[in-house]
Amino acid sequence: MTPARRALVLFSGGQDSTACLAWALEHFAHVETIGFDYGQRHAVELACRTTVRQALADTFPDWAPRLGDDHLLDLSLLGQISDTALTSTRALEMTQAGLPNTFVPGRNLLFFTFAATVAYRRGLDVLVGGMCETDFSGYPDCRDNTLKALQVALSLGVDTKLTIETPLMWLDKAQTWAFSAALGGEALNALIVEHTHTCYLGDRAQRHAWGYGCGQCPACALRRRGYKGWRAAGEPAFADTDRLGLEAP
Ligand code: ZN
Repeated sequence: MTPARRALVLFSGGQDSTACLAWALEHFAHVETIGFDYGQRHAVELACRTTVRQALADTFPDWAPRLGDDHLLDLSLLGQISDTALTSTRALEMTQAGLPNTFVPGRNLLFFTFAATVAYRRGLDVLVGGMCETDFSGYPDCRDNTLKALQVALSLGVDTKLTIETPLMWLDKAQTWAFSAALGGEALNALIVEHTHTCYLGDRAQRHAWGYGCGQCPACALRRRGYKGWRAAGEPAFADTDRLGLEAP
C-alpha cells in the first residue's frame, strides 16, 4: 500500500472498473470514484455503481474506510456526438467493426481530462481506468501509449504530477477474472457477477453464471468467454490458499 497517494477511479459499474476499484482500494489509502452520465444505454450500468460501491464496503471491511466520495458528472453533450444524426456513413463502419453505434470516438481522452480536473480539486494524484489493449485493440483511446501521452499532457496542463494507472492493460478477460479473484477471492468475483453490468443492451432480466445480460451482444460475449476461460483454467492459486487458511489450526 502507498498511503501517501490518493486515487480517483473511473468507475462505470461494469466488471472492469469494479476490478480497478478493488485494486485501488488494496493499494491506496484514499479512493474516490467518478462516473459519467451521457444518457445512453449505460443508465443501467450507472444504477449499478451505488450498489457495487456499497457491496464492496459491506464485503471488505479493510477497504470500507478507504472508499471516499463518488462523483457523477453529467456529460449529456456526448449524447449529441453519438446521435445518429451526426454520424452518416461512419455509423455503418462502426457497426461492422463490432463497435456499438453509440460509440464516441476518443471518449476516454475526455473522461480522463474531466477526471483530472476533479482530481486536482479533490487533491487526488492517481487516476485509475480499466482500459485494456488485449480485447479492445479497436479502441485507440484505450491503448497504453495513448494514455501515457495523456498522463504527460494532463500533468503539464494542471501543473501537478498525475499518474494514470491501468492495471488491466495487458490482461485478457479470463485474466481479469483471475485478477479480481487474487484481490478479493471468490467473494469479490461473486460480487462482480451479481452486481456489475456490462451488456450493451442493458438487459438485467437474464441471469447467467457470469452475470446479467442479453448473452448475445459483443460485451456479453466477451464477458462470457472470459468467465468460462477463467473457470476452465482450474482452481486458481488463491482458492488453495483460502482452503489452507481455513484448515490451519
Ligand atoms: Zn448483452
